[in-house]
This record gives sequence, structure tokens and C-alpha cells, in this order.
Amino acid sequence: MNIETLAKKSKVEIGFSCLPSNLKDAIVGEKERYQKTDKRFWVTELIRCLRASWIDRKFTIPFSETTYYYFWRGNLLHKKMEEYLDATEERVIHQFDGVTISGKFDAKDKDTILEYKTTSSLYYAKKRPNLTHVLEAATYAAITDAKQIKIISLDFSGTKLNKQKEFFLSHTIKLTKKEKKEILKFMEHRAKALDTWLEKDELPPKSPVEPGECNYCSLRNFCHDDSFDYQAFFDEK
Ligand code: SF4
Repeated sequence: MNIETLAKKSKVEIGFSCLPSNLKDAIVGEKERYQKTDKRFWVTELIRCLRASWIDRKFTIPFSETTYYYFWRGNLLHKKMEEYLDATEERVIHQFDGVTISGKFDAKDKDTILEYKTTSSLYYAKKRPNLTHVLEAATYAAITDAKQIKIISLDFSGTKLNKQKEFFLSHTIKLTKKEKKEILKFMEHRAKALDTWLEKDELPPKSPVEPGECNYCSLRNFCHDDSFDYQAFFDEK
């Protein structure tokens, strides 16, 4: 028996179609859609570009396999962390002027909000934390009594051994009362703005928090054109 000949007989399938259907359904089922109509905004919607969040609420954009995969991978990490730390994610709610901001932080250790994030490059993470991650964790701190945030990045760059042997990295930021107040005001402003643009049915201006956000945004190819017919584009899909 030649093992190589046997191996070459293999039928290759790539993507979700190669998974058993119950696993595929479970992965796809985990990604919830935002509710389109209510005035409840998720922290994760407000920390990203509001134009992208507006489009997500307005149209039923089919999620790509990449979106499902990253979401599922993040869930695996969070579930494992909950198991290790014997702590579940906690929900926070902030209500103002008829609008609700709601979110879930990964864990809290005394006065510190802990957020676990995966990264494909600890090299860049070392330079500074991602701004959307800072805004997210700082919002949770602002809504709770936390005094600092700690963003722990885990290297998910692949299975190749990292020569520097650095797989974990954390950024801790102490927050003053004034900074927490400002963060909350900023998030209230974004929630109100998104609510208004949804009600007026108007496309919001570009508003990424992290300058590199456009590079991995699925809308980047036509976002520069404000007259682009999103409805027609997504209807065709
Ligand atoms: S391409 Fe950039 S500006 Fe446009 S929606 Fe995406 S993140 Fe926002």
C-alpha cells in the first residue's frame, strides 16, 4: 500500500460546505443580527463606523463565511475563558433620552474591566491598542464603577511557532472620572446620531474610530460614492 497514492485519492472540499451540516448550522446560528427597528444600540455597533452599522441595520446583508468564521472563533475563545475563569460575560445597560446603549463585557476583576481580543499581529498590537477596543472597554468602565480597563490580546496569527515566543500582550489604561464622563457622552452622541440617521433614512457620513477600519470593511469598494444605491446593490445579492 502506497500511502501517498491513497492520500492523492482524497476529494478536496473548501469552506463551510465541507463541514457536517449540524456543525455548519450551529456556527451560522450563533451570529445574531441586530434588531432593525428598536432604539437599543449595541456598544459594538457604536464603536465601529456608523455608516457600516447603519447599512447593517437597514439591509439584510448576507454574512460572508469570513464573518461567520471570525465570530465563531471569538465565541470559542470567550467560552473557554469563561470556563477557565469561572465567570460569564456581564451585560451593561445605559439609558438616556429614550435611547438605550447595551453591551456585554468579558469579565471584571475588582475595579478593572477585562476584554480579551484576538490579534493576527502582536507586532502592531504592541505599538498601541486598537482604538475600537479601547472605546469598547472604556464604555463598559464608564457605565460601571470600574476605574481601569485591561485589554488582553491573544496571538491568533496561525499555528506557526512565533520565534519571539510572545503570545499574550495586555494594555492597561486607568480612567479618570472626567474621562469616563467624556466617553459616555461620546457614545451617547454616536447612538443619537445613528438613531437620527435611521429615522431620517439618510446615509451617515464616514465615521470610523480606528483609522485602519476601512481596510477590512466589506463596503470599502463603493463607500466613497455617496450616491451609491445600496438598496439595489443588496437586493441583487
Ligand atoms: S469603508 Fe470605511 S468609511 Fe466606509 S463604511 Fe466601511 S469603515 Fe465606514
